Amino acid sequence: MTGATQATAVILGAGHAGLAMSRCLADRSIDHVVLERGEVANSWKKERWDSLRLLTPNWQSRLPGYRYEGDDPDGFRTMAETIRYLERYAEVIDAPVRTQTTVTCVSRRGEGYEVKTDRGAWRCRAVVIATGACSIPRLPGFADALPPCLDRVTPQQYRNPDQLAPGGVLVVGASATGTQIAEEVHRSGRPVTLAVGEHIRVPRTYRGRDIEWWMDAAGVLDDPYDAADNLERVRSLPSLQLAGSDDRRSVDLNHLRELGVRFVGRFAGIRDGHALFAGSLRNMCALSDLKMNRLLDRIDEWALQAGLDGQIDPPHRFEPTRVDASPPIDMDLDSGEIRTVVWATGYRPDYSWLKVPVLDRKARLVHDGGVVREPGLYVIGLPYLRRLRSSLIDGAAADAAFLSAHLAGYLDGQKATDQSARASMKV
Ligand SMILES: Cc1cc2nc3c(=O)[nH]c(=O)nc-3n(C[C@H](O)[C@H](O)[C@H](O)COP(=O)(O)OP(=O)(O)OC[C@H]3O[C@@H](n4cnc5c(N)ncnc54)[C@H](O)[C@@H]3O)c2cc1C
Repeated sequence: MTGATQATAVILGAGHAGLAMSRCLADRSIDHVVLERGEVANSWKKERWDSLRLLTPNWQSRLPGYRYEGDDPDGFRTMAETIRYLERYAEVIDAPVRTQTTVTCVSRRGEGYEVKTDRGAWRCRAVVIATGACSIPRLPGFADALPPCLDRVTPQQYRNPDQLAPGGVLVVGASATGTQIAEEVHRSGRPVTLAVGEHIRVPRTYRGRDIEWWMDAAGVLDDPYDAADNLERVRSLPSLQLAGSDDRRSVDLNHLRELGVRFVGRFAGIRDGHALFAGSLRNMCALSDLKMNRLLDRIDEWALQAGLDGQIDPPHRFEPTRVDASPPIDMDLDSGEIRTVVWATGYRPDYSWLKVPVLDRKARLVHDGGVVREPGLYVIGLPYLRRLRSSLIDGAAADAAFLSAHLAGYLDGQKATDQSARASMKV
């Protein structure tokens, strides 16, 4: 092809995952470029709400050759601090990022790939997809059936409560995003109803240590993808019900209930202008409490084996989630009680530009621990890619180390094949 720029590898996306991969490829002297539609840390700049702070402590953003060196390792970064952290990383590793370059098409070309962008095309032997797991809000199929009198907002559009009309707000989804937005909006004086589906309750602090410290130390975050009983299921689990704040509070349903947030079951559909909520709220909460206690059991077991018992607070269990026995299962959406619906129902990646047949019938990328079945194609930054930690900033280092080694092996194999083909042509 004429006019295309050559690189051995092209990384798509300059979030933390793309940058980590860039650093690992540079360590192996593999020439590459990072194509980014916006700026470094674009998602954190453009797609997050104002008050958001990382739910992982400062120490837990370790990237290849880079870690937090401030004096508040247990604090939680604001968005401005997160952006600065990643911008600084790109500078320190001297990542070859081409900003304001949107990838519009990736296709197979001979033994390699062609990457088309709005600023020219690239030819390469390997492609690493690091365009993020949270590009598009995942809305239920009936979302469009909301009555027109209601405003609707996704977490990517939400910035702060002032942007919402006065009146009641229905927040749909009780994971990290939904509970944080519900708390903030309720504190602004707008009565909040929270539709609670499957969620994972965890305490911010347990036995005097942060829950992320426990999960890191006890090896929970390193549970490998290939040992999961049901990989599809663990890869689609909701985020932990956690928030980062100076007072280290748990933003669970008991906390929200004390503030006055009202709960209903999972938002299951809309009929004749009425919202229908599942009657399973109590069961959902009981299941979530059960899973939390299983996690705490595992932590206690590890603490005992590690000889921590006696040095730290003793094991204990938290009050079960308190919910009404019969919450409403029907709400007239035209009654004026609700003015805005916030869809905190999760996110999905965007592969609309990917013209290689590697998506399944649900448009998910088929991969084995980040190695896509098409040779030379890789993905990083997806939930449970190689381990539970993979969805966190802190998970990219190990994943990038593995994938860059695999990619290097693939390139070596290609070179060997080329050499033997050339040798056989000479004979
Ligand atoms: C609300 C929220 C809170 C989170 N909180 C935490 C937290 O506290 N701690 C934690 O460790 N993780 C957290 N995460 C998870 C995770 O760290 C983020 O999702 C992170 O942004 C993922 O990093 P990434 O590099 O994989 O993708 P992204 O940061 O999304 O980077 C992908 C990049 O690709 C670019 N891109 C996309 N499409 C194209 C294209 N076609 N052409 C060129 N460029 C493209 C985007 O502009 C973006 O810069 C949170 C996620 C969300 C959504």
